[in-house]
Amino acid sequence: MARSIVAVIPGDDAAPEAMAAAMGVLGQLDVPVDWDVLPPGAELSRLDATDREAFVHEHIDAADTVLFGSTNGTTPGVAHMRWGRRTYANVRPIRWRPGYRSPLAQPEGIDYLIVRENLEDAYVGIMGDAAALHRAGLVGPKARLAYEGEGRYAAKVITRAGTEAVARFAFALARRRRAAGHPGKLTVSAKTNMLPKTDRWFCDIVREVGQDHPDVELDQYIVDDMAHRLVLRPHELDVLLLPNLYGDVLSDEGAATIGGMGLAPSGCYGDDFAYFESAHGTAPDIAGQGRINPTATLLSAVLLLEHLGLGDAARRLDEAVTRVYAEGSVLPVDQGGAAGTEAFADAVAAALA
Ligand code: ATP
Repeated sequence: MARSIVAVIPGDDAAPEAMAAAMGVLGQLDVPVDWDVLPPGAELSRLDATDREAFVHEHIDAADTVLFGSTNGTTPGVAHMRWGRRTYANVRPIRWRPGYRSPLAQPEGIDYLIVRENLEDAYVGIMGDAAALHRAGLVGPKARLAYEGEGRYAAKVITRAGTEAVARFAFALARRRRAAGHPGKLTVSAKTNMLPKTDRWFCDIVREVGQDHPDVELDQYIVDDMAHRLVLRPHELDVLLLPNLYGDVLSDEGAATIGGMGLAPSGCYGDDFAYFESAHGTAPDIAGQGRINPTATLLSAVLLLEHLGLGDAARRLDEAVTRVYAEGSVLPVDQGGAAGTEAFADAVAAALA
């Protein structure tokens, strides 16, 4: 089998501790991968910002895919992988496993995927002084916005092409889920009532795309109802498609329902590139303490291995994580245990079948 090159970018604050531990486990898998491990942000910061960016981008572009730790802005690369390489679908699995410290009374069986549109919506970077809205004639006595003094705005942009692309991705994912024994149902959610031009249109386009996928059941909820359902009826979800900003917020809520950000992996997919990163931030409050939970990084690596077609290795790693949590004697601190980052990763490595 041809070997793949994976750039490993450890990131900042506590993220490199999780990455180092995860790499120890990945090293045990014996997969046809050349791991190109870059230095953590603390070392990269010796380069000036331009050189640092050029260095990281060069390694990303030379790789087949990337395993990325979180960044506090010191480690560059995310904008390049996201907007530069057009990774428009951010997949965030929310799956409870025995041993995860969920705050819910009945977390058994929670198992769904959030697909977050990853490029548009409020994240297009179009922001400015609200005086521009005045100049465009959008502010005034007949408009909802009437103000004196300072104001700022941020634009929310939804495009047909961007929505169709992520909708097709989500429907295909729902079909694959059904083939793997899941319900294979798609749910879409946005603020359709207050934002008809953007959010209702997003859902309407998803419905249009759905006409090519009549075998996939499609549900739709207003996003505030969705936030409520993630806590009260999470078992009804299979694939949940959301515009960018709601996807960002609700995926942290989903992670909380199974036990927190330490358990939240993600993969960002485009038509010809994908990269993988934990959904949590750099956890600066626990940096240097050797207690960051590496599960999110390990499960992001599971998604990466699947993406590379290394399904057996992905399954072995996934099952090893499941086994360590189910066994319960070596649990990370955020899951109520006493195991540091390395000790937990060592237990996962030892549990590899
Ligand atoms: P960002 O804005 O980049 O998302 P943040 O500071 O808002 O960063 P996190 O870095 O995810 O968010 O941290 C939120 C809280 O969750 C912190 O208390 C952090 O220590 C904790 N946390 C995040 N990831 C982990 C992890 N892998 N293991 C243990 N605790 C974590």
